[in-house]
Amino acid sequence: MIQDIYPKKLNNSYNPAAKVNDNSLIVVHDAGKFLLKIDEDNATIAFPTVKDLKDYNNYIYLFQVSGEEFFYAPDFDKEKDVIPDGFDFYTMKQLRNYYLNPKHYVFASYTAIQLIDWYEANRFCGKCGNKNELSKTERALVCPSCGHVRYPRINPAVIVGVRNGDKLLLTKYRTGFAHNALVAGFTEIGETIEETVEREVLEETGLHVKNITYYKSQPWGIASDILMGFYCDVDGDDTISMDESELKYAQWVSREDIELQPLEYSLTNEMMKQFKDGIK
Ligand SMILES: [Zn+2]
Repeated sequence: MIQDIYPKKLNNSYNPAAKVNDNSLIVVHDAGKFLLKIDEDNATIAFPTVKDLKDYNNYIYLFQVSGEEFFYAPDFDKEKDVIPDGFDFYTMKQLRNYYLNPKHYVFASYTAIQLIDWYEANRFCGKCGNKNELSKTERALVCPSCGHVRYPRINPAVIVGVRNGDKLLLTKYRTGFAHNALVAGFTEIGETIEETVEREVLEETGLHVKNITYYKSQPWGIASDILMGFYCDVDGDDTISMDESELKYAQWVSREDIELQPLEYSLTNEMMKQFKDGIK
């Protein structure tokens, strides 16, 4: 999965004293794209360093991965600042689809984009409209006028493997992702995670479920989400009544007929594989 970067490890605790040096890795972001050097022959990826970015000089600390520190360049302007030789802007999808190495750089990109989205969406205080400032002690944005403190937000979401004996409920979304998926959705305010599982399965397929058991989680990041995977069993009538506004396909599929996704980054794929292999 995307966060499986062993033996590397993400350390996302905030370090207000962190300062860039010439070799610090910089995440430059522009409208959903990252400034990177991709070598397609070797399927490798590189971030620009402070040295590469020449005269640019405003950085915000993000996190480190096994000692390598990542910073963000909040004011980088691709029209005015120097784009280093060999670097270009790439989408998150391109990053994943090329299956690039090192894997922890792909994961770092997905983690960085969540923090960057949060910084960019909270430049101004949501209560009084004044310009926010960086907290000096923790990962937070503070309003100097009214004192409102804004912390990063993560959206909880579930992925559900619904079993019916030797079959698993597979879905395909109406738009976007073309491969097999599982029922998935975000937790609503006031809901338990288990209730999210029951509601999403019912909304998308009309099925009731029982024996809900937790499997594992995945920081996914595209929607600032933390995905929590659950298996459960269909309860009662197994007739699927698909939500056609969201799905174009929802079917019971036998273990041997399950077609996995082409890449191994997602919790959804791992959960389908666990079932296919007879483990779950
Ligand atoms: Zn304020």
